[in-house]
Amino acid sequence: MRELLIATRNEGKMPEIRHAFEGVPFNVIDINHVPELEGFEPEEAGATFKENSVIKAREYGTKAGMLTLADDSGLEVDALDGAPGIQSARYVPGTDADRNRKLLDAMKDVPDEKRTARFVTVIAIYDPARGDLKTCREEVYGHITREPRGERSFGYDPIFLYDEAGKTGGEMSVEEKNRYSHRGRALAKAREILIAEFL
Ligand code: IMP
Repeated sequence: MRELLIATRNEGKMPEIRHAFEGVPFNVIDINHVPELEGFEPEEAGATFKENSVIKAREYGTKAGMLTLADDSGLEVDALDGAPGIQSARYVPGTDADRNRKLLDAMKDVPDEKRTARFVTVIAIYDPARGDLKTCREEVYGHITREPRGERSFGYDPIFLYDEAGKTGGEMSVEEKNRYSHRGRALAKAREILIAEFL
């Protein structure tokens, strides 16, 4: 089976990617299991989710010499003019809980109807053998809660209420989150692209 490198060190993303790719006809490889990539971290110097996903897929893929999939994603809050956006992982130093607290503080005077936000994911797939590159993008709409909600905590999950599901990401199982989330939907598209174009 052809190997497919998943170019992320983000421990929140990996279970979602593994779940979405159950049964794919590829041998899914974790970046931490590739010795050539130890300590390798390309700079996310792009200005958009797409540019950053392409940087990651190309650089990891070239270095490992493997078909590679990378995800760049983040939260855009309307009342904060789209912040934290592509800076989501780096909005403030510290933990996810610190970033959630800072975002809730910044929104403390924003009324319910103006607490709209979206999660965005762009996935890039790069094949270094042929130089082929494909990307796909998904976004999903929701509202910022007033307090964190839910047990499962990855990034901004506890403070983002998915409009369609009526729950925060923190209140969802991995399976449920993949059904509703930006990443789950982008991964479903990526799965089709992989089978159609990279088998
Ligand atoms: P990236 O590694 O540059 O793509 O950073 C993505 C960051 O956006 C993560 O570290 C989280 O802070 C946030 N993020 C992206 N997707 C999600 C999600 O599904 N739930 C919660 N936070 C997310």
